[in-house]
Amino acid sequence: MPAAAPALFPDPLDDVRSRYPEAVTDQMRALIDPADPADPIALQFLPDLRELDQLPVEDGDPIGDDRFSPLPGVVHRYADRVLFKMIAACPVYCRFCFRREMVGQGEPGLSGPALDAALAYVAARPAIREVILTGGDPFMLSARRAGELTRQLAAIAHVELIRWHTRVPVVDPQRVDSTYAEALRVSGAATYVAIHANHPREFTPAAEAALARLVDAGIVLVSQSVLLKGVNDDAGTLADLMRAFLRNRVKPYYLHHPDLAPGTGHFRLSIARGQALMAQLRRTISGLGQPTYILDVPGGASKAPLGPAYLREDPEGGLEVLGAANGWQPVAAAQSPGD
Ligand SMILES: *Cc1c(COP(=O)(O)O)cnc(C)c1O
Ligand code: SF4
Repeated sequence: MPAAAPALFPDPLDDVRSRYPEAVTDQMRALIDPADPADPIALQFLPDLRELDQLPVEDGDPIGDDRFSPLPGVVHRYADRVLFKMIAACPVYCRFCFRREMVGQGEPGLSGPALDAALAYVAARPAIREVILTGGDPFMLSARRAGELTRQLAAIAHVELIRWHTRVPVVDPQRVDSTYAEALRVSGAATYVAIHANHPREFTPAAEAALARLVDAGIVLVSQSVLLKGVNDDAGTLADLMRAFLRNRVKPYYLHHPDLAPGTGHFRLSIARGQALMAQLRRTISGLGQPTYILDVPGGASKAPLGPAYLREDPEGGLEVLGAANGWQPVAAAQSPGD
């Protein structure tokens, strides 16, 4: 771009963009309804002035990655599994990202000697059965690098599971061609891919084809979503989202309560509201479609499933169905006369 004269009317959103980068893929941009000021796709990807409001409870490292990082790019919080932050870039920048202070901010990924050190760390610890590749988005690696990493991990005898967490198959599906899917398949370890999507409209025909390429390559797919105010915090949207995963052979795994990342207050809803939505989901769709509603406890203590609780047992062993779960009725009873 040529050096422009100072804008007569500076765009106030530039303050947001200079703090947190902006990126939207063509596929996601095409889904945005410009006539809808509350479009759930736009809300996820377009900068918003409310991002400049940082609350005292918010934290640049909300889940405590740094405290559990034994060496650069590695987070080791649970004995049997370790995270590698492969690359700090993503094809889109989610406005609610829990790692927004590092993602897209020019941090180096894991490559060269740092990656060798990370691999040596795993090789020296037989308790580690699973290596989780995250970022940013690890599917930003080329197919060649993804394949090489897969082979290096599978060559460590005690690594049984290789798990990728990615938004690419949904937001940039052409990237996941059959070469890419094949690069993730390896003998000696099982490959799981956790697919991040938050709204049923994200499942375009191209995204569904990318998911099919992964499953057809022998990869197990699980879901991860963030429960977001204005995006998916109603029972119908949430049910449709889980059905979209199921239809595409993606087993619902986690529904994250939003983390306390800076400038994300406008996305957060109460845990009580999330629990009520989960109770409703339980009544509405197949057991296969139920994710675990989870919170990364601030400071990095652990992940905590948030419930809701459905039953209480009294000291005599009697069972009481609790409020959030109440209202369940067999279909026949739920039908009004004349149905
Ligand atoms: C979330 C997380 C994991 C993965 O947890 P699962 O419950 O197995 O999905 C692993 N390591 C760290 C540091 C994490 O934050
Ligand atoms: S894809 Fe994941 S890591 Fe990347 S911006 Fe979105 S939430 Fe953050």
